[in-house]
Amino acid sequence: MSVTTQDALAVRLDALRKAIAAKDLDALLLTNITNIGYMTGFSGSSAYGLVTAEEAILITDGRYAIRVREEAPNFTPIIAAGSGGYIGSLQETLTARPAIQKLGFEADHMTVSQHERFVKDLPEGVSLVPASGLVEVLRLTKDAIEVAKTRRAIDVAQSAFLSVKHLLRPGVSEREFAAELDFAMRKNGAQKTAFESIVASGPQSAHPHHSPNGRIFEVGDFITIDWGAEVDGYCSDITRTVFIGSDADVTPKHREVYATVLEAQRMAIAAIAPGKNGQEIDAIARDHIAARGYGEAFAHSLGHSLGRTVHDGPGFSTRSQDFILKPGMIMTVEPGVYLEGWGGLRIEEDVLVTEDGCETLTSLPNEFEALGG
Ligand code: ZN
Ligand code: ZN
Repeated sequence: MSVTTQDALAVRLDALRKAIAAKDLDALLLTNITNIGYMTGFSGSSAYGLVTAEEAILITDGRYAIRVREEAPNFTPIIAAGSGGYIGSLQETLTARPAIQKLGFEADHMTVSQHERFVKDLPEGVSLVPASGLVEVLRLTKDAIEVAKTRRAIDVAQSAFLSVKHLLRPGVSEREFAAELDFAMRKNGAQKTAFESIVASGPQSAHPHHSPNGRIFEVGDFITIDWGAEVDGYCSDITRTVFIGSDADVTPKHREVYATVLEAQRMAIAAIAPGKNGQEIDAIARDHIAARGYGEAFAHSLGHSLGRTVHDGPGFSTRSQDFILKPGMIMTVEPGVYLEGWGGLRIEEDVLVTEDGCETLTSLPNEFEALGG
């Protein structure tokens, strides 16, 4: 029997209830809409969730009265009167449930003024207890449905790239290429781009997070393209770097730097397995790049968790020794080298941690390629 979305949501709710009990809370108030979407299946843009040992309640407003019943059958819907009525509905809900005294809240996702308002408006006897990361931890390991959605997000991004790749040639601007790529992702089935696409050409490719501008591609450029699609709430995140020109235009340095980054990526991917920590995977790529003399030029972390948001949790960095890999995690692996005044490059794959290693989900070729010459 195949796993349905409702089965998957029931599993998540069970796991969250265990976490709530372990924190000795009577209930957890969910205010982060990404976490609410994950826990409930609801795709609307505003809601509160309230989870106790016995009940699961979703407060939203009249705009979503139909959608909430269709999408979140495991949660009891409460429709707040108007978009300002959420706190009022929460107040009534808690007043009717005097057993809820220790109410956990998502401390990482609440502003100081929101917190003040909750303290003032919630029934006496309810104490707000900061609870961080309870849902985020669950989100790190993906079930089969989430993996399938991520694969679709990758497919959409990859086929969009292939459909506009002919524009990687002299005379096309960064901005034009980015616009065509974004449009192709939407046409291929993306709800939106997962983030603002990066198209960085020539000397500008030395900036890891360059915003595309009017610069025109020229022979001799490296062009770094970092893009992703969001499909069914799941993101892809891919980077490719290509050279503009013919094989005769390629310098030994272009080949050497490219080979260094690609080797670093392959070594890191080969080492990814459950039980390893984020720091040791980062170090494999970082040490290789440093041994080739470009240590200073790799100034960001090796990768991050990928999921309902692009930067969806911890990753591979010099500080992530406490982050332990588990089967079902989806991670990016994206080493780069950036040389001011010359240019730079990055190569990024998305990988799924498996029982005994990892599977690379992205499949676009990543060998050195000279185009448009
Ligand atoms: Zn990226
Ligand atoms: Zn990334």
